[in-house]
Amino acid sequence: MSDPNTVVTRSRAKKAQNEAENAVQDGQSSSSLNKDKTSGNAGTAVKDNPSSSNPSKIDVFASFVESVGQSLKEAATEAVRPSSPLKTTDLAGIADYIKTRKPKNIIVMSGAGISTAAGIPDFRTPGVGLYSNLAEYDLEDPQDIFDLDFFKKNPEPFFKLAKVLFPKDVKPTPTHYFVRMLEKKGLLLRWFTQNIDSLEVRAGVNKEKVMAAHGSHASSTCLKCKRKYNLAWITKHLDDPDKLVPYCEKEGCDGIVKPDIIFFSESLPRDFFTKIVQDFPCCDLLIVMGTSLEVQPFASLVDEVDSEIPRLLLNREAVGVFKGRKESEGGRRATRPLEVCYGLGIKHSNRDVFHRGDCDDGVMALAEMLGWDAELEEMIAQGPPTSVLL
Ligand SMILES: [Zn+2]
Repeated sequence: MSDPNTVVTRSRAKKAQNEAENAVQDGQSSSSLNKDKTSGNAGTAVKDNPSSSNPSKIDVFASFVESVGQSLKEAATEAVRPSSPLKTTDLAGIADYIKTRKPKNIIVMSGAGISTAAGIPDFRTPGVGLYSNLAEYDLEDPQDIFDLDFFKKNPEPFFKLAKVLFPKDVKPTPTHYFVRMLEKKGLLLRWFTQNIDSLEVRAGVNKEKVMAAHGSHASSTCLKCKRKYNLAWITKHLDDPDKLVPYCEKEGCDGIVKPDIIFFSESLPRDFFTKIVQDFPCCDLLIVMGTSLEVQPFASLVDEVDSEIPRLLLNREAVGVFKGRKESEGGRRATRPLEVCYGLGIKHSNRDVFHRGDCDDGVMALAEMLGWDAELEEMIAQGPPTSVLL
């Protein structure tokens, strides 16, 4: 994210620098320099130097302008390239930053791209065929199954889909374990995820470290008495081919038990907003993985870290142009790029790193650079800790 103040400073400094250099080249007084009043002394010097026939005064003036030009040049250079914590804007630069700067408040943001390798379909992506097994319900709009009012009246299609979305035997990916490694090393502040598959928890990451922006089925709630059920309970239920809709076990209740994922008509968890305010100002490295950065408000979180904080994107495609963000411009609505430049090459950005490819490959490469690869491979081989085994 470019700091607007930096841009303004750079523009002004560059303009003044050009004018100062022109004055030196021309060997005569610069009226524009005088007009700009770059400094009080400069204005006085020009006024006091009306004659071009006095070489000594010209020399003094030229020397003065040169020194001003040099100062502005340095200022401009500093503005164009704010001090970067990264030696290089690639994966090696991020690895070096982790080793030398030792960030302790890393925030991870992830989307469906990190779970597709686990075999979980992205149910928002058209054409994945996820809704095809709902034909028997003759739904007007298949997405109605994520509508709370519809669900209360007809929960069966949702649970039919849930059996596909939340399979019991799904395994976390190396990417999930990499974040657990960050936690193990005391570097993870929070993991903000758009995913509802609970693979973060299944990989063994502490629940307190995970903020599922769209909820998850790590817990479920009875719609009637609000009794809570855990991941093991709902998974066992979904895994039973003879059962479809789970009902509350509290005596005399019999309410529908709904996984705590966020339906279309529901607000995002209050905790999500609290954690944004609490965590992002402290963030010292942002790692974004497997997301198109198109779903708001999640996508705009990348702008919540300080302007000097490095941001790494591991993804198959460059993202960062957000077509939905619009602003009034001369009475017309225009789109503008989101101020994150992953892979899009904003020249003066020296803290954004885009590593193109599968997330699993990216995290393994990073782990190797950090010397964590053997430890990570062992963690993956061991699988989830017994405490989360179902
Ligand atoms: Zn109940």
